[in-house]
Amino acid sequence: MIQVDALDLFTIGIGPSSSHTVGPMRAACEFASSLQEAKLLSPMAGIRITLYGSLGATGAGHGTTNAIVAGLGGQQPESCSPSQVVVSWQNALDAKCIFVLGHRVAFAATDLVLKPMIRLPKHSNGMTFEALDSLGATILSQTYYSVGGGFIEKHIGDADLDSATIAAQANIDAKKAAAVPFGFSSSTELVELCQLTNQTIAQVAWQNSVARYGQERAAEHIDAVWAAMADCVEAGLSATGVLPGYLNVSRRARAIREQLELQQREGAISAEQSGEWLQAYAIAVNEENAAGMRVVTAPTNGAAGIIPAVGYFALKFKGVTPERLAREYLMTAGAIGQLYKSNASISGAEAGCQGEVGSACSMAAAGLAAVLGGTVRQVENAAEIAMEHNLGLTCDPVGGFVQMPCIERNAIAAGTAVAATRLALLGDGNHKISLDTVIETMRQTGLDMSSKYKETSLGGLAVNVVEC
Ligand code: SF4
Repeated sequence: MIQVDALDLFTIGIGPSSSHTVGPMRAACEFASSLQEAKLLSPMAGIRITLYGSLGATGAGHGTTNAIVAGLGGQQPESCSPSQVVVSWQNALDAKCIFVLGHRVAFAATDLVLKPMIRLPKHSNGMTFEALDSLGATILSQTYYSVGGGFIEKHIGDADLDSATIAAQANIDAKKAAAVPFGFSSSTELVELCQLTNQTIAQVAWQNSVARYGQERAAEHIDAVWAAMADCVEAGLSATGVLPGYLNVSRRARAIREQLELQQREGAISAEQSGEWLQAYAIAVNEENAAGMRVVTAPTNGAAGIIPAVGYFALKFKGVTPERLAREYLMTAGAIGQLYKSNASISGAEAGCQGEVGSACSMAAAGLAAVLGGTVRQVENAAEIAMEHNLGLTCDPVGGFVQMPCIERNAIAAGTAVAATRLALLGDGNHKISLDTVIETMRQTGLDMSSKYKETSLGGLAVNVVEC
């Protein structure tokens, strides 16, 4: 039975990457808490951090170094100040020290070791923290895996590689394990459950979330998530400048917005610009993400623009209210995300971009079909169509930055999500290929995919674009 909740697929955090920024920050914070609980902060004089696999390959471009320094200081993705986090690494190097929950520890760039060619057994995003005493001996060591979507897992021991998901993810606590009223483990079961109980997918997901987190907390969370998504779209549409990193990528969401507004003033019909606005919304969010600003992980940061963009499109062009976007659109999308997280992967490092952008595209298509009045079968069909045409999509971020192809890719995937919904709503819900089949196909394709195309920047566009 699926353990992750629909609400867990949406967390308010920071850019640019859920697996390379949000997850490492949570892991670093958890390690710092372990040191404090074991009363090992005062004997601690140094630290060594080793990043393996994809984290070692693209961590710098994905903000991993900043995230780790901030996390060791006790900062969490949902409450940190993004503008402080982006200078954390450089500040530590300049000061030659970091603060682990307020305890000063000597620090130099060489205390971070990158091992991109070594993949730890459990996952390609591995990291080991070692606290050192004044003689350089290890007093506490712990390995974590950042498994996508900001989720982290803890390595339990050499003999036991099955790790326990730890409570660093906001909202994961003892209630998580509580029995839910409508358990399901596949889309087939989910559809049958809805038909049997005469409920929508959103209603099923909502009741499960309420059972886990309580009505008040669940409502607060999902309303805050939609509000943060809308804020992020608006912030991105207003921002200007160049994104961080040596690629010198200019932000363009604002320029697109101004161009569309000019066209309107010159007589263009707003409804006929809906496709362009949809893409502008996605680009706005992904530029905020690439800049390390406040975004909602949905279900990852690399794919953070798709679900907000399609929701904002429904708000602006389909008259869907913010309340319905939170309770129906997002809950439906979250339920579909549960299937991807549990039965395949939402991690680019594990499944390529089909796991990130493909999953988000499928979730958004399902959510849009739901708020536009689709039946449960049509909603499942929309989710299936959206993923079917993302299968095989590789992850090859140029320079290791979540910018090219990521930003435009979100815009295109938002369009795919809307197209998938339209196609599904023109049918009666009957179709040959089930959502379960495409999820399993995505999982198998991810396993077959060369590691060059799994968030290592060793293949694809990453090696064919001249960096200047
Ligand atoms: S290419 Fe796709 S999976 Fe890779 S970093 Fe960009 S958005 Fe994420």
